[in-house]
Amino acid sequence: MSAAIDWRAEASRLTFRAQAFIDGKYADAISGKTFDCTSPVDGAVLARVAACDAADVDRAVNAARTAFNDGRWAGESPKNRKRVLVRFAELIQKNANELALLETLDMGKPILNARHGDVRAVTECVRWYGEAIDKIYDEIAPTPRNALALIMREPIGVVAAVVPWNFPLLMAAWKFAPALAAGNSVVLKPAEQSPLSALRVAELAAEAGIPAGVFNVVPGFGESAGQALGRHMDVDTLAFTGSTEVGKLFLKYSAESNMKSVSLECGGKTPNIVFADTPDLDDAAKGAADGIFYNSGQVCDAASRLLVEASIHDEFLSKVASLAKRYQPGDPLSERTQMGAMVDATQTKRVLAFIDKGKEEGAKLTLGGKQVRQETGGYYIEPTIFDAVDNHMTIAREEIFGPVLSAITFKTEEEAVKLANDSKYGLEANLWTNNLSKAHSIARALRAGTVTVNTRDGGGIEVPFGGYKQSGFGRDKSLHAFHKYTQLKTTYIKIS
Ligand code: NDP
Repeated sequence: MSAAIDWRAEASRLTFRAQAFIDGKYADAISGKTFDCTSPVDGAVLARVAACDAADVDRAVNAARTAFNDGRWAGESPKNRKRVLVRFAELIQKNANELALLETLDMGKPILNARHGDVRAVTECVRWYGEAIDKIYDEIAPTPRNALALIMREPIGVVAAVVPWNFPLLMAAWKFAPALAAGNSVVLKPAEQSPLSALRVAELAAEAGIPAGVFNVVPGFGESAGQALGRHMDVDTLAFTGSTEVGKLFLKYSAESNMKSVSLECGGKTPNIVFADTPDLDDAAKGAADGIFYNSGQVCDAASRLLVEASIHDEFLSKVASLAKRYQPGDPLSERTQMGAMVDATQTKRVLAFIDKGKEEGAKLTLGGKQVRQETGGYYIEPTIFDAVDNHMTIAREEIFGPVLSAITFKTEEEAVKLANDSKYGLEANLWTNNLSKAHSIARALRAGTVTVNTRDGGGIEVPFGGYKQSGFGRDKSLHAFHKYTQLKTTYIKIS
């Protein structure tokens, strides 16, 4: 067995990349402005990060465009791009402890989740798209004998990615890995709360051999750097993950600028439906607890609405409550911690306001509900369970993005489906039953991009992920992600 790592000691030796990464080099913001990058673990300022604005975005987009046009990456053979991306994945793996620490310090998740969840998945993602790109074929259309019609996928050009803070590097990788594999140039804006891992990974991309200008990172605020990307006339497509509210802004930015294509992954309110005929109630209870308390509930497909059949309500809720107690927030740098910090003071306040609203509207608070560990200077909320929730209550409708479970009771299959679909969101749904026909018919009736049956595991990089309704459109992960980062060209040739 390998020796335990003293993560706090490792953290004290870290240095942080805090400048933007543009055209293959680190650079300050043109304005010279910075913002404080604060750790939610203990409130310490980790770094003063370049606050990029429209001028820096312009510089990054120009570098990306020049690189795209001269073909230094887009013109490489798929096999060569594969070699570089596989090397990039290896470098991420080699620096996994450092990247995991950056995630934990920057956004407060438990170190083992960062190390074995996030960074492992990032490595796999980059490797997977690298490996895929030289195995995809184009098409030839059926034509008369005197013609040849080639239908080819071409890289779209300059890809902008605006990503959130809950899985900082993974959400970025879901976008930059397929975009780079397809031959595009990328400009990435990480969330202001969690820019450090993206800034470090840009250096690893360059070390792997991704040419200057092909992968750029512009840290900064949404209203400035994010908006500038959304409105830029030379960005060809914009891929976003975050709130529905900001997702809608990107559609507006596109309409008011150059009609760039936009893909949106905007969160959800996942219904987790547990029927009385569930094959293993303990397993389902584990899924329910993990589904809402993992990453402090700051997960777009968090199982935030527990729909439980009336006949098993008491037994099931008591199982979930006893598992929930294991998620008492602890030091994110300890390997024993199951649930760490909230990302920042704003998100903590937002979640506490939802908890107050739940109480006000008459839901029954059966566990948690309070901010804890304030003496650390960080931001922590107890695992929280509301019972007797009505689906019309605010806590059942809004994406809370915190460790807050809303339990709703149902009596029939029809009622369960109706409740599950009664949401503006449609990212994911989970269901637990022993009955195969019931599972299939309900899975078909649920309006969600992913439906899981008897598991919370919605699959790895090989399956698509994305939403119905106001959870957005476009898909991350799998070969389907290439649709966002390529466009079709038809070449029609007359054969004489
Ligand atoms: P946002 O949607 O505001 O942030 C996501 C990204 O968009 C960030 O990079 C952000 O930059 C950027 N952004 C913010 N405002 C603008 C703007 N006006 N124009 C362009 N870009 C912008 O999420 P929040 O961080 O504010 O979180 C609020 C809520 O959103 C959460 O409580 C949760 O409900 C939901 N959310 C959902 C996520 C998901 O995975 N589906 C992820 C994160 C949040 P900056 O960081 O500077 O604000």
